[in-house]
Amino acid sequence: MKDLQDYIDHPKVDAHNHLNLGMRYASYLHWAGAPIPNFPRPLDGLDEMHSIISNYTRPRCQTPDDVVDLVDMSINDAINDGVKILEGSIDIGFVIHFNEDTELFLRSITDIVNKYADKIEIRPELGLGKTFDKDKISRWAPELIESRVFKSIDLYGPEVQNGIEEFKFIFDQAERLGIKKKAHVGEFSDAKSVRHFVEFFELHEVQHGIGAAQDDSVLKFLANQKIRCNVCPQSNLMLGAVPSLKDHPIKKMMDAGVRVSIGTDDLLFFGKTVSEQIFDLVSQGIITEKDAVQLLNEGL
Ligand SMILES: [Zn+2]
Repeated sequence: MKDLQDYIDHPKVDAHNHLNLGMRYASYLHWAGAPIPNFPRPLDGLDEMHSIISNYTRPRCQTPDDVVDLVDMSINDAINDGVKILEGSIDIGFVIHFNEDTELFLRSITDIVNKYADKIEIRPELGLGKTFDKDKISRWAPELIESRVFKSIDLYGPEVQNGIEEFKFIFDQAERLGIKKKAHVGEFSDAKSVRHFVEFFELHEVQHGIGAAQDDSVLKFLANQKIRCNVCPQSNLMLGAVPSLKDHPIKKMMDAGVRVSIGTDDLLFFGKTVSEQIFDLVSQGIITEKDAVQLLNEGL
């Protein structure tokens, strides 16, 4: 058994990290100045998580500097974990904090990428919330994607299928420009929905996708199509998507030949880095040391 430090020292990717919530709680608390009560704690699914976001983290973020501070903290905590490539999502809604000035928003992101270039490769990802103002998305997304500042896009929000066609044009644009396409699916939803999202948006990668493990034919589909799932076991545990780590299907997915990487999702809420999650999986006998090396090397 290796020490946690061995996993930290190994270069790695985090391809599932929401940069406004990607820092340790200690980092956030020092910056925010006011605690989130009874936190961190296991949550009853995404609804409880979103009520904490609405009541605490979102109101605390108002200005361009606030957005940059949050992203900075997330990047520094990723660097401390030995992450060398960070595909971190920045929500399109943050354009609001830049007085709806998309150019200023893009410039700030480019500045962040350049600032850390010698320590970590930041690949900004455009985060698209299903529940965000559709008019604003239609207005901003094409320009933001056209800028090439974003290396990938990710659609997230309630895991429902109705309404997803309204986002198809953005994925089509990303396809034309050769930008990586991802979406959140199969966190709580089933294998069929994972396959549907992959086919409908022609996804390159799935954020979560653990629902696929309920159907061997969908695992085979993902393996054959070489669709990577950026899985976040600690998030799944803390949100109740799996009853325990031992029940997590990551090993089943890997053994079926599905490409898997480990992501933090929201370190602020879930508290475990990529290295810590891999260490836990090995320590609890859920994956082998060989699997751990494969996870660490994924995407490098
Ligand atoms: Zn996520």
